[in-house]
Amino acid sequence: MLNIETPEIKYVIHAVRQASRLVKQIQAEMVSPALTKDDRSPVTVADFAAQALVGHLLDKNFPDDPLVGEEDSSALHTPEEQTTLERITAFVSRFTAGATPETVCQWIDRGTAISAPRFWTIDPIDGTKGFLRGDQYAVALALIEEGQVQIGALGCPNLSPLSLQGRGVRACTERSRIGEGVLIVAARGQGTWAGTLDGELDLRPLSVSERSGPAQARLLRSLESGHTHADQIERFSEAFGVQADPLRMDSQAKYAVLAAGQAEIYLRLLSPKLPDYREKIWDQAAGTIVIEEAGGRVTDLDGRALDFTRGRTLTNNRGICATNGVLHEAVLESLKIIGA
Ligand code: AMP
Ligand code: MG
Repeated sequence: MLNIETPEIKYVIHAVRQASRLVKQIQAEMVSPALTKDDRSPVTVADFAAQALVGHLLDKNFPDDPLVGEEDSSALHTPEEQTTLERITAFVSRFTAGATPETVCQWIDRGTAISAPRFWTIDPIDGTKGFLRGDQYAVALALIEEGQVQIGALGCPNLSPLSLQGRGVRACTERSRIGEGVLIVAARGQGTWAGTLDGELDLRPLSVSERSGPAQARLLRSLESGHTHADQIERFSEAFGVQADPLRMDSQAKYAVLAAGQAEIYLRLLSPKLPDYREKIWDQAAGTIVIEEAGGRVTDLDGRALDFTRGRTLTNNRGICATNGVLHEAVLESLKIIGA
């Protein structure tokens, strides 16, 4: 069972639901087909607004806990960005009293802490390209203690709850444009749960799939080719014997899909353009515990445990390999064979 009265679990659920509702409103009001390809202003507003809200709620609940976030307010202090800051402030004030341009910057800068024995990490909009396209994106918040992720939550406003009930992910992500969204929450030793973003929480347990045959395995990868190695994904599929085409999806929503048993393997291979890229902690912390508590496994491509004690980046790890557990060793073996 998940003890939702634990203050940390209560906070993570509330903060991620509120931030998800906030960014959903920003997407509805600011993202339109008329947006030019280079206009990232909706994602800028959503990123800062969500981090401000999560930082503010952390101040109220755990004033002494550090927050390591993707954003800081420095870019908002220039005269050209005053309108952006005002827009951010207007959105944040829909969700809490006391939002002014000054307090909003302070709340955003809650996220500039350095990691400590106990800290939170936030990705206010994971999958910014998905957010702009109207596809998948996630609000991701996690608590890390002594290098171990203890609690994690993902708000996935465009993921349909149907996708988590065995109706097939492809159909359900298509429906997700009108979907209600999903909250995923996991706590160490207490399982992974899916609930709603609005109204009654209605939590249901999630568990990974038991499929053990490579031919039936379903593979997840980033939609953005620059965030993975497309050729190697193909070579892996061949070596491992995966038959279906990989499912391409933005953000940590992929972890939700794997935890719900709708896919078996998720690979983040190193892009040939950036072979030295190392993952950011906020891109992986919440997703990792969501998989582990649903019965799956997460390591890097060499089979090493993710090391969250190295600051903002997983400097000791190369890429990510997440599976339903049963397939993990065999997947690592195939990765070695193809030289990934
Ligand atoms: P995804 O939606 O799975 O493509 O992942 C989105 C995340 O990829 C973003 O939050 C970025 O932090 C991260 N990212 C940016 N560049 C790279 C890269 N070269 N390789 C892997 N991940 C990246
Ligand atoms: Mg991200």
